[in-house]
Parts: sequence; C-alpha cells; structure tokens
Amino acid sequence: MTDLVLDRVTLLTMDRERRQLDDGWLAVSDGRIEALGSGAAPAAARRIDGRGGVVMPGMVSTHSHVIDILLRGGLEQDRTLFDWLVNVYFAGTSAYTPEDCALAATLNLSEAARAGITTITDNWGVNNGDDAGRVAECAAATLGVYESSGLRVVFGRMFSDTAPAAWEGILGAYMAKLPAKTLDLATLGEPLDAAIARIEALIAAHHGAAEGRVSVCPAPIMAQLASPEALTAARELAERHGTVVPIHHCESPLNSRVFPESGPGLGATDYLNALDFLNERMLAAHCVWLDDRDIRLLAAHDVKVAHCPSCNSLLSSGAAPIPRLLAAGVTAGLGTDDANTSSNVSIMQEMRQAAYVAKLTNADPGALTAEKALEMATIDGARALGMEAEIGSLEVGKRADVVLFDTSGPHWYPRHLLPATIVYQAQAADVRTVLVDGRPVLDEREPTFLETEPAALHESAQQASEAIVERAGMGGLLARGWQSQSRV
Ligand code: FE
Repeated sequence: MTDLVLDRVTLLTMDRERRQLDDGWLAVSDGRIEALGSGAAPAAARRIDGRGGVVMPGMVSTHSHVIDILLRGGLEQDRTLFDWLVNVYFAGTSAYTPEDCALAATLNLSEAARAGITTITDNWGVNNGDDAGRVAECAAATLGVYESSGLRVVFGRMFSDTAPAAWEGILGAYMAKLPAKTLDLATLGEPLDAAIARIEALIAAHHGAAEGRVSVCPAPIMAQLASPEALTAARELAERHGTVVPIHHCESPLNSRVFPESGPGLGATDYLNALDFLNERMLAAHCVWLDDRDIRLLAAHDVKVAHCPSCNSLLSSGAAPIPRLLAAGVTAGLGTDDANTSSNVSIMQEMRQAAYVAKLTNADPGALTAEKALEMATIDGARALGMEAEIGSLEVGKRADVVLFDTSGPHWYPRHLLPATIVYQAQAADVRTVLVDGRPVLDEREPTFLETEPAALHESAQQASEAIVERAGMGGLLARGWQSQSRV
C-alpha cells in the first residue's frame, strides 16, 4: 500500500514541461514519489489534506554557513565583507563550543524547515587552525544534528592553508577597529596535510550517512586562501567521492584577483583555470566581480554558481551578473549564505531578492523572471549540487522532497499566475508541511526533529550567543548607539 498521499492541492511540478496540476495529488512510497495526478487520489496509509494549498519541490540552498546563525541579531551591521570576516565571522566562530555548534545547527535547520528548505549546502568552519581537537568535536556535534534532523545536507568542510601576505595589513586594519578583541591571523589556516586528513576522516565517518541524506565534501574557502596544492587535493577528493567543491569566488574586489602584491595581479577565474580547477564539480558562491572572459570560462567548464543576493546586498559586495551567466548557459542556484549576512534562512527571500536585484541593476524588468527564480530555487539548485536525478522536481521515481503551502492568507489573493504569486506574494510563514524522503521534517508548522519546545531552543540560542559575544570580546560591535548615519 502507498505510504502517504497528499491531496486537494495545486501541484507545481518543476518537471521538464513545468506542468501545473490543479486538483492534484501526490503519492509517496519508500521515500520516493510513486505517482502524481489530478482528481481522485489513491488510498494510502496516511493522508495529508492539502486544503486547496500549493505543493512544489523542496527548496535547495546551494550556499550557507549554518552555525554562524548565533552571530546574527545586529553584530554584522554596516560592515564590508572583510570587516565582517575578521570582526564577526572569524572572531565569533573562534569562541564556539561543540554545544554551540549543535544548538546553532538546530536553530538554523528549524528555521530552514519552516521556510520550505529541504536541502542545505553548509560551508562549515570554526576558525580551523587554532585547536584541532575542538574543531573535530565541533564538526562532529554539527553533523550529529544533521544526521538526526531528517533534512538533506551537503557538509562542505572549509579549509585554508595560505593567505596573501598583502592581506595581513588589510585584515589587521579592520581588526584594529575592535581593540578589545585579539585574533591571531596565523590560526585561520591549517597545514594542508592536516586539513586533508581531517576532511578524509569526516568523509569516512559521515559521507552517505542518514540513508544518504548527509554528504561531506572539501571546501577550500577561496582561491586566495588555498595553495595550488590545496586546490588540487580538494578537486581530487571530490572526484574520488563524487561530490561538489564549494568555494567563494569573486565575491568582492579584494578576492576577485590573486597575487595582490604584484599590482593588479591575476583574475581569480584565470588563475583557477590555469590550475585546472574549473570543472562541473566547482560550486562557486557569489561570482559578483566577473568580466566577459570569466563568464565564458565558467560556462565553458560547466562551473556551477551559488547566487546569494541578500548577502551580496547587505555586505554591499555588488550585484552578480546572473542574467549574463544564465545567457551564457551557466547553472545557478540560490543560497542564503551566512545567517548573519542575509539575516533569514529562507530561499523564499532569496528568490524575491534575486529577481529584484537583477531587475534593478539591469534596468530591465525581464532580467530575471519569477519562473527562473523558482527554477533556481529547485531544479537548478539540485543541478548545481549534481543531484538533479534525485531531487529538484516532482516526478515519479524522484525522492519525495516536498513543500506544502497554506494559501489561505490575504497576500495570496488575488492570484492568477502561480510563479509570480509564489515569488512576489508568498511568505516563508505560509509553509505548512515539508517532507524529505517522504517523511515530515515540518508537520503543521512544527519541526519534527526538536528535542525541546521551540521557545526553549530560542532562549538557549540567545544565551549561547550572548556568551559567545562575551568570550570573543565582540561587545564593541554592540556599543554602536543609534547611527542614523553609519560610522562603521
Ligand atoms: Fe559564504
């Protein structure tokens, strides 16, 4: 007998024909979509009455930093990328305990599930070089939450084994803005052999865990922070285990070129191409500062892009040339990036922001359509992760990663064309039920994987965040007063 049927809904399948089925139903068995259609639904062991709602594929986040969520709430305000990097990200994660990591992952995943995200790509790191034991315990604590959550997670273990000498002065200048805090720049990296051994240990212990929902891959932070040997090692590890290689690429002017000590240096895309690093496994986050040559090279090598429009907006990193990348044939998914640089764990927000930014910066209301934003959030995101055969659309045989929207709210009316209604009117709070592998991770708006009441989780997160700010000496970030004009 069929395990589960979800009926009385409009199905937005995102299949090849982008079919939309009114009065639809979806049947699930053994974690996969067994059948779908319109009209009378088949019998099943469990039935979810969609009550006239909308069902679409679970949303895919192709770039995030899950545990950094304990550093949001105002700490990050008005900072440029490298100011934020040293004074919020590196400083804050240096003070994380394994318990903080587990708590942060639980908070983030509960927000993600409530927003209809079923697959998360985590670029994970806690200031890797300072204490190998702590780093390993923090990674294990985070992965423990992922494995029991029921969500699908790509765990990219970030690493760095070098840094441009010319950056020391820049990072030092930003750090001097916060005299209370001390951070040893030498602790940001780790020896390559150690980094690879630690990543291989994580792969051995966790890759393919939770019935295949959790995977582990190497994630060199960016071209400037990984030696040629490190980039090659990451690429080889990814090929051996069939994973992607997440990396930050051309996010700001500072990291769009290598060898800053030699004048304008060399474009980061050219550099990675010379090292034979550009390929279909490379998952390049941001891709803001690209020229026509970069775009051609990324397209020619089938590099995938993780577009993070909210983060790019808040850090003022710039507008990624997504319409030009798409025109060149590049696959681009969406990412929430750091929860303290987009402030929401919601691909719903990223769909809307992606459309707004593209329309605004190209002076073209057709620069990025609602339909394309939905593709980026689902099937294109799946393709960016190499998972398009398994997830990203509602098709028979695919894994049952599914979102059900409650469409009873006033902002759903009137509605005529569903893509525009979802992208421009729907809210994350409309997500009612979310399935991953056919099992609810959100059931009637309640995450199924919490071991405490949500209010207790939220209070614990507040206390942990305050303690991290204290331990990391980040209190100066909060003593900003009321800045009608930013002094940051
Ligand atoms: Fe990032």
